[in-house]
Amino acid sequence: MTVHTPLRSIDALVARGLVAPERREPLDAVARRYAVSVTPAMAELIDPADPADPIARQFIPDAAELVTLPQELADPIGDAAHSPVEGVVHRYPDRALLKLVHACPVYCRFCFRREMVGPGGDALTGGKLDAALAYLASHPEIWEVIMTGGDPLILSARRLREIAKRLADIGHIKIARWHTRVPMVQPERITADYARALLIPGKASYIAVHANHPREFSEAARVALARLADAGHVLLSQSVLLKGVNADVATLGALMRAFVENRVKPYYLHHPDLAPGTSQFRLSLEEGQALVKSLRGHLSGLCQPTYILDIPGGAGKIPVGPAFLSGCETTPGVEAFAEDRHGELHRYPPA
Ligand SMILES: *Cc1c(COP(=O)(O)O)cnc(C)c1O
Ligand code: SF4
Repeated sequence: MTVHTPLRSIDALVARGLVAPERREPLDAVARRYAVSVTPAMAELIDPADPADPIARQFIPDAAELVTLPQELADPIGDAAHSPVEGVVHRYPDRALLKLVHACPVYCRFCFRREMVGPGGDALTGGKLDAALAYLASHPEIWEVIMTGGDPLILSARRLREIAKRLADIGHIKIARWHTRVPMVQPERITADYARALLIPGKASYIAVHANHPREFSEAARVALARLADAGHVLLSQSVLLKGVNADVATLGALMRAFVENRVKPYYLHHPDLAPGTSQFRLSLEEGQALVKSLRGHLSGLCQPTYILDIPGGAGKIPVGPAFLSGCETTPGVEAFAEDRHGELHRYPPA
């Protein structure tokens, strides 16, 4: 086995000691349903002796995935309803997703697009790419293009440069944003040359880096993030709040600090989507709000993400963070009570 080959089957995970042989049969059933891949960088971080390892929980299949609840949806955030041409999702007027590939270097067990992503998924090439770019070019209201998938950073630097050149020609697009997990899960891909290939001439460049646990910030991942920041990209974070991975104040706080220490500004903390077979990861909105509230009390303002719910079915993203104001119609001279970080209430007068 070479160092850079991902583990893509239950047999490979058993051989590596990451799955006990007696779990092979139920997990083979999971692997027939949902794609499996664990990169060497992630396999190295897993402690096989810890049954609750937060890295294993994100990437190693679990028999619980075979249970699909009635409220779970194949297309939880309604991408299909807003797709005018293959590879484009245009839900908000000023920005559109460009889904360049369907494959990822890892397959997250909680993935919101798990019914769409996998190793067999086609890349957007030839006539399909032409049609997607023609759509973007003919909609002057599109100010920002968000490259996603799958994970677009599995594409070669040569391919990225070809796509970048074509996007550079669309004058009304001012912002290029990449969504990726590669800097954490396959950091060796991010060379200085690769970081430059992600720059689209004439556009401001943002990269939303997906990470869910502070242990993902290996030395190699830190180097990859530094290369991206040094090349001129603005780095943003994207995390999913996941039971058994990061849903406690200490872990979530350490994760946000790790982002900030590596020049990644916390952007979104997603409430888990209703993807099929993912109920083992979900917590209530109330639990999520309590966690986010305690971050506000303990950590620098730089470390505060926006807690986001993508409304099931395609109505869009909304902030669902905790409230710090409570209304008071009955107390004269008070518009609201403002709650401080110790939980004490303070009167705020009407305008
Ligand atoms: C999440 C998403 C975006 C990006 O939303 P922001 O709030 O700008 O980060 C854009 N389009 C679609 C279809 C999305 O799902
Ligand atoms: S990297 Fe993103 S798209 Fe790929 S499996 Fe993980 S959550 Fe899904």
